[in-house]
Amino acid sequence: MRIDLHSHSTCSDGHLSPAELVARAVEKGVNVLALTDHDTVDGIALAQAAIDADALPLHLLSGVEISCTWDAIEVHVVGLQVDTQSPALLALLESQSQARTARGVEIGHRLEKNKLPGCYEGAVALANGGMLTRSHFAHYLVEQKHCKTMQNAFDRYLSRGARAYVPHHWASIEEVVTAIHAAGGVAVLAHPGRYKLSTKWLKRLLVLFKEAGGDAIEVSLCQQSPHERSTLGQYCRDYGFMASVGSDFHTPLPWVELGKNLWLPKDVTPVWHVFSAFPDVPQGEEL
Ligand code: AMP
Ligand code: MN
Ligand code: MN
Ligand code: MN
Repeated sequence: MRIDLHSHSTCSDGHLSPAELVARAVEKGVNVLALTDHDTVDGIALAQAAIDADALPLHLLSGVEISCTWDAIEVHVVGLQVDTQSPALLALLESQSQARTARGVEIGHRLEKNKLPGCYEGAVALANGGMLTRSHFAHYLVEQKHCKTMQNAFDRYLSRGARAYVPHHWASIEEVVTAIHAAGGVAVLAHPGRYKLSTKWLKRLLVLFKEAGGDAIEVSLCQQSPHERSTLGQYCRDYGFMASVGSDFHTPLPWVELGKNLWLPKDVTPVWHVFSAFPDVPQGEEL
């Protein structure tokens, strides 16, 4: 059984359409996939329609990855098995979308001041109706040969402290967990190892996420040291979280792939234990 509970499509900054994504998941032997685009659930119906049209052997979970502001730090919370029609969730996603547009306009202004005009329009065109992200700016900067690589575009212009960085004003962690619960979903702290926090601050985040009502944390990612995975498993036990698994797939890469290298340490509670209508998962270390 292969389970992957974190992935992106062209509805945010992924490179595959929802239909291409579910087809690839089947190709890679994934049995259960959550589509978790940044701040939007628009891809879910499209992905399900593609599964139904070809009777694909894939169970789709409706998901979303919501950006949160915690002081200067940006934290991502994944909602799993959310009701995509929930008024509370849709209201929050609408306000995130507006904040993304406002931030995008400002990033465009700052790039213009760096003699790089037209980047907002360029990024919006690349987003092609999907949720606008910094990845679209980076992609545009590479396409226009202003930067050699996406990483170079982030380092020079888009990352925190860089020339065109704009401080974020997302919803708080509490607001996001509340909206996910109002939509009947499960709230999962995404990639805890990627916030560049010291152990002391990561533990503060775990306490805050717990107090906000958070249910689970991502323990297993594709690219991860055994030490990180076992430490995150220990945090589940220590703080009373369930454990999730996800590739955070955006585009085919040799080291990030749907369903690749995802497994949970022993003695953690898999997040899917609380899902309804979930296929039977054999117990054991390997998924
Ligand atoms: P946003 O949510 O608009 O701030 O965009 C963040 C997205 O940009 C993340 O979800 C990643 O997909 C991507 N990203 C962030 N940092 C980098 C980086 N250094 N290189 C490439 N992509 C990045
Ligand atoms: Mn992304
Ligand atoms: Mn993320
Ligand atoms: Mn993600």
